[in-house]
Amino acid sequence: MRPEKVALPVCIFHVKNIRKQGTAIEPDFSNLNSQIVACRLCPRLVHHRESVPSRACFTKEIHWRKPVPGFGDPNAWLLILGLAPSPDGGNRTGRIFTGDASAKFLIRNLYEAGFANQPESLHQHDGLILKGCYLTAAVKCVPPKHRPKPDELKHCSRYLERELLLLPRLRCVLTLGQIAFQAYKQHLGVKCRSLKFAHGAKYQLPGAPPLYASYHPSPQNTNTGVLTDQDFQKLLKMCLEEKGSTNQ
Ligand code: SF4
Repeated sequence: MRPEKVALPVCIFHVKNIRKQGTAIEPDFSNLNSQIVACRLCPRLVHHRESVPSRACFTKEIHWRKPVPGFGDPNAWLLILGLAPSPDGGNRTGRIFTGDASAKFLIRNLYEAGFANQPESLHQHDGLILKGCYLTAAVKCVPPKHRPKPDELKHCSRYLERELLLLPRLRCVLTLGQIAFQAYKQHLGVKCRSLKFAHGAKYQLPGAPPLYASYHPSPQNTNTGVLTDQDFQKLLKMCLEEKGSTNQ
């Protein structure tokens, strides 16, 4: 059994990009999301999202093939940051963590923990409502082999930044996988090397919500036992306890 890692970094973090409440440059998500959906800043990803095939069982469906904005509760206290949409998921359905195996794992667990009104996320009109939680990805377009390039991550960070400004009630950030963790670290402007990705790690950052790290709920991890429902419930419980302690 893997030990749960709770990192206790020894260096002092300098968080440059501290979120300032009330400094959002748009009144709500609709303006931001329209800009995200229309974005064509990364030529390689534009080409990929418009041409990548999905599984044979979906080929007759009309695919979204555009950037995929975040989804969830605008009053969220928990942000869950993934890597990017997948060919079968967001790039097909138009909603993040919808219609693929990662969504199946994540939404089932969010439902179990009381964040979702139903255990499934199948398509944009399936009635899914998230409470207290907002889902987004570091890169809004599906990348080849799940690997965005550094300049693509940099381009797309402008949208994560604006999403964060629109979420003034955040108390916790949970990153899914190494790339999302690094993207969030980059957003904060933290250079400290002891801020390392490890499943179960928690970092207290001055001026920013506590940061938690999880393995990504991709089939490579969930089908092999690297990430189990039990592991993920444990992390969600830690986030819930964090929120409880900040409410007191
Ligand atoms: S990855 Fe982000 S910045 Fe690049 S084209 Fe897609 S939405 Fe635009």
